[in-house]
Amino acid sequence: MSVAVRFAPSPTGLLHVGNVRLALVNWLFARKAGGNFLLRLDDTDEERSKPEYAEGIERDLTWLGLTWDRFARESDRYGRYDEVAVALKASGRLYPCYETPEELNLKRASLVSQGRPPIYDRAALRLSDADRARLEAEGRTPHWRFKLEHTPVEWIDLVRGPVHFEGAALSDPVLIREDGRPLYTLTSVVDDADLAITHVIRGEDHVANTAVQIQIFQAVGGAVPVFAHLPLLTDATGQGLSKRLGSLSVASLREEEGIEPMALASLLAKLGTSDAIEPRLTLDELVAEFDIAKVSRATPKFDPEELLRLNARILHLLPFERVAGELAALGLDDADSAFWEAVRPNLSRVAEARDWWAVTHAPVAPAADDPAFLAEAAALLPEEPWDLSTWGTWTGAVKAKTGRKGKDLFLPLRRALTGRDHGPELKNLLPLIGRTRAQKRLAGETA
Ligand code: GLU
Repeated sequence: MSVAVRFAPSPTGLLHVGNVRLALVNWLFARKAGGNFLLRLDDTDEERSKPEYAEGIERDLTWLGLTWDRFARESDRYGRYDEVAVALKASGRLYPCYETPEELNLKRASLVSQGRPPIYDRAALRLSDADRARLEAEGRTPHWRFKLEHTPVEWIDLVRGPVHFEGAALSDPVLIREDGRPLYTLTSVVDDADLAITHVIRGEDHVANTAVQIQIFQAVGGAVPVFAHLPLLTDATGQGLSKRLGSLSVASLREEEGIEPMALASLLAKLGTSDAIEPRLTLDELVAEFDIAKVSRATPKFDPEELLRLNARILHLLPFERVAGELAALGLDDADSAFWEAVRPNLSRVAEARDWWAVTHAPVAPAADDPAFLAEAAALLPEEPWDLSTWGTWTGAVKAKTGRKGKDLFLPLRRALTGRDHGPELKNLLPLIGRTRAQKRLAGETA
């Protein structure tokens, strides 16, 4: 049977690094196994689901290169969930309950105060037909709970190893709301079964759901998939990442922080695994290195500084073709590979290329604080054409003429040519600055 996985976000907010890590791990798992990857939007929460969030999810995944082979939207499948609900009611596994939220809260509080786990007491199972008729005559509409079997539930989790739950220690979950809407606990199982999902890889916040959902798979006659529950990322202080945490959203990493997709992918594919985090330029390399067995049970910490450092290391390796679009979007339409190769060692973010573009292509006020020396140097500037050897030839001649060396030789030249103390290697910048500008800047003119 071929491997099929899914990433099933609810379009109720922006994807953050924690969500997208699960998307990536699913995608890598599918690609490694030659299987397929489904994007499923869990949008049955109609109050909170928004089309702009759904679009955002697709945009974020596309930006990262996580293409999907299949797409499903739960709101398209209500008819199917109704069909399954009818069958579960007929077999007695779904039963109507009439408690109000307040009544349920009271029951829970009373159990907790007695030191007992807040498990639903199944009072609704003891209602007679007459009781139900009376409750409905009072205007109550039922919600529906799944009747768990009080047997052990066990699975071998690909990350956690053997997991054991007692059915009797779990509350019968509500699968259908009072307004007739099916809930995630049911819809997810129906989809996973219908779409022949073989491996469910998700966050460890779903472990208890899995115990319940395994019984639902069995009740609907679906094949129970293999499960893997990954520890959730925390921030650098160990706090959980909330879905609405704007600054760690994929959109803000892309649009505000200037993070490259492969920087994020290189980090998230390895965070919390036994592999070292290294810059990778293609998802194929990550696929080749991926193995879910490398995922550890320890809680991984997401550090934005680490991401930025990785972004810099990736930029230092990326060829011009991979950033040409981003450079053009910054307005650097004429940037070419010579420019890119000159400046990339000095960048943490592509947008910083603008500063160096200004140095090579726009007027610079030079810091010409040693005019006599600079005049001597200017007189020695070779004729064009210039190439990567020009800087060495020229400074060799200046050194021979003036006797200066090291910092005394190079720093005044750098300050005059670029207006700054630090920057990309002048061997690379000089041909981009060109003879006319260089001469003027050495003479102290803004050029
Ligand atoms: N929509 C669920 C969530 O975002 C999916 C969980 C699952 O993978 O089953 O948590």
